[in-house]
Amino acid sequence: MLIVPEREIADLMTREAAFEAVEKVFAAMASGDARNFPVVREAIGHEDALYGFKGGFDRAGLALGLKAGGYWPNNLDKRGLINHQSTVFLFDPDTGKVRAMVGGNLLTALRTAAASSVSIKHLARDDAKVLGMIGAGHQATFQLRAALEQRKFEKVIGWNYHPDMLPNIEKVAVEAGLPFEAVELDRMGEADVIVSITSAFSPSLMAGHVCEGTHIACMGTDTKGKQEVEAVLLKRARVFTDEVAQSVSIGEAQHAVAEGLIAEGDITPIGAVINGTHPGRTSDKDITLFDGTGVGLQDLAVAAAVVDLAVEKGIAIEVDF
Ligand code: NAD
Repeated sequence: MLIVPEREIADLMTREAAFEAVEKVFAAMASGDARNFPVVREAIGHEDALYGFKGGFDRAGLALGLKAGGYWPNNLDKRGLINHQSTVFLFDPDTGKVRAMVGGNLLTALRTAAASSVSIKHLARDDAKVLGMIGAGHQATFQLRAALEQRKFEKVIGWNYHPDMLPNIEKVAVEAGLPFEAVELDRMGEADVIVSITSAFSPSLMAGHVCEGTHIACMGTDTKGKQEVEAVLLKRARVFTDEVAQSVSIGEAQHAVAEGLIAEGDITPIGAVINGTHPGRTSDKDITLFDGTGVGLQDLAVAAAVVDLAVEKGIAIEVDF
């Protein structure tokens, strides 16, 4: 078995490699070559932790496995560890033998940022100039870096529920050589692309805040009850997702579907756009919305890529198992 420890991931994995892996696996999901298995997520009754598994099999990329982990809210204060902890296990699809164990913390941020970046590539207007960020926490910096690579953005505007966190994303914009302006939500209409990555349970971005032609990547809603944007915005938009089953149950679309504003059939897997079987955006006036719920196959795809890189560079630790 090969081990790629968490400490090695930052030097091995690039945003480009994560993007390529995620774009490929979204395409494989839409063509029926890759399938996510039902997610398990349980409160374990210890340390207030939420623990679970996200797994699947990609027949095209031959990645079989799962990500195990979750959220330990007391880690940072009690132990100086990050609250989200995860590990990816890959198995040989020919034999069932375990192939690799890979640190999953940084990979989760990279694969999540890659997902919204893939959506921007395929759905945003080519002439997008202003990027709007909603959220300024841990994931937001990764999201911003990846988003900036997809279009020739000239400015970043940002809003956060906790304004004192905005310097986190301002720093990334400035590093990229772009001006940053903190704005109220009613100025999000100036953005051509909006990335939302918060842990909110009620909407921040309202339908009236968004102009025609905008692409919105809703990346924070990955659990029943969470919500980042007003449900009626999904009725105004063309809605895309990583996986429809998750979008309607734990994603941003759960609310619009529950309120009868849209139906499951109105939501298109982004892989169909990547594969060219769905046109995606059809005019410069469309509002496109990507509901990024986060699937296990994304984790397996980036973990498989990092194992290949680790083997290539002689960094993978081999153990007899
Ligand atoms: P974080 O705790 O570092 O940041 C949370 C962010 O949400 C901050 O910007 C905070 O100000 C904001 N926020 C908190 N309460 C809010 C409220 N009531 N209204 C509006 N904003 C509020 O968390 P993070 O690690 O950056 O994760 C952000 C979200 O992304 C979480 O919900 C997490 O579960 C989700 N996530 C999704 C995926 C995916 O694949 N879609 C992957 C990883 C994380």
